[in-house]
Amino acid sequence: MKIKFIGATEDVTGSMTLLECPAGKILIDCGLYQGTDDVVKKNLRPLPFDPKEIVAIILTHAHLDHSGHIPRLVKLGFRGTIYCTKPTLKLARLIMTDSAHILEKAENHILKSFYEMEDVMIATSLFKTKNFHETFEVLGMSISFQPAGHILGAASVFINGEKKIVFSGDVGRFNDPLINPPDKCPLTDVLVIESTYGGKIRKGNIEEELTSFIKKIKKESKVGIIASFAVARAQLLITLIHKFYQLHPEEKIRFVIDGPMMTEANKIYKEFSQDTKLPEDLRNALEEVEVIDHVREWDSLKKKEGPLIIITSSGMVSGGRIWRYLENWQNDTNACLFLPGYQAIGTAGRALSEGKRIIHDEEGKSIHWSGEVLSSQAFSSHADQNELLSWINDIDKNTNIYLNHGEPSSKELFKEKLIEIGFRNVTIANNNKEQKL
Ligand SMILES: [Zn+2]
Repeated sequence: MKIKFIGATEDVTGSMTLLECPAGKILIDCGLYQGTDDVVKKNLRPLPFDPKEIVAIILTHAHLDHSGHIPRLVKLGFRGTIYCTKPTLKLARLIMTDSAHILEKAENHILKSFYEMEDVMIATSLFKTKNFHETFEVLGMSISFQPAGHILGAASVFINGEKKIVFSGDVGRFNDPLINPPDKCPLTDVLVIESTYGGKIRKGNIEEELTSFIKKIKKESKVGIIASFAVARAQLLITLIHKFYQLHPEEKIRFVIDGPMMTEANKIYKEFSQDTKLPEDLRNALEEVEVIDHVREWDSLKKKEGPLIIITSSGMVSGGRIWRYLENWQNDTNACLFLPGYQAIGTAGRALSEGKRIIHDEEGKSIHWSGEVLSSQAFSSHADQNELLSWINDIDKNTNIYLNHGEPSSKELFKEKLIEIGFRNVTIANNNKEQKL
């Protein structure tokens, strides 16, 4: 059996791993490279396999950096089966659809014509959903998903064939307020593990940072704009704000959300609320939240003064409705932008978090932001180093471990730590290098 890491070896995006067995080839994840132009261009590199030969894609979760290359494979002739959990199918369909619309709309996009809506529709017809812990057969191997935390539906993959292999997918936090903690990594011969925060122990508390932001907006009568990813982060924020208002009605101020994709993701989170830690709070929060749907609502909102809280996307200010909010309140020193998430290099969110105040959108429009900017590291949905170590606590020290999905320094630090605590076979995954298992 052979393994080839095709993406997520140089940074945290483009997850795609080829598993070659005597009976055929499968992929674990099929994601897009995201970020600066140089990173996005990597999507155009020729694939080291013929998509028509791929029997199945095992999808760990819906995020674009894990699912966003699927329609491209379909466009190139892939017609195998895509296995994932039910929430992942619904979220992946939403994310792939959004991606296809962006690629179709943007004239000068590097990935123009990479795929179209039609490819997403064919891709959707190839999905087969599985429950957590349900075993299914692919190429004579038995495969199952186990909860990975992270976002709704996210899974680690356990493959039991000639060898036992575990793909961690993105491992979530052990104390996420909304998503249940991941199941521990099972005993395995080979483990492919993400290392986004392999080199870091994260500080900060989500609830505390969010409530101090809400209190500040109320006390100082500000307009607070929260930049949020439409999937997962937004539903967490909406639920926590709702919960806080229930416990502290005296702190309640108007709070609205704006974003068509966010609204769609809300429906999926509501449908699968039983799979979360706070089913009732989540359902109530999503039912009661005030949504900005129509132009006239926006027209009235933009004249408003604080206190007011708006959640809108994108999470890294790299497009989306947030631009109209930043433009509207750019000269208001009483406005406050909150960036509760990772801000990739090259994005406007990164520039703002580093103190720059003039930002440019994709069409070159510039905004000079005069208000405050607050950032937080607490909101990431990835396990940190301690949590990753705890996740693999039960596995044998002779397990063959491959590290992927991390910045080079994170992988190095994680490798050092793993060797320090006694793991003997730790390898940093190499792009396109074939390894025998
Ligand atoms: Zn993810």
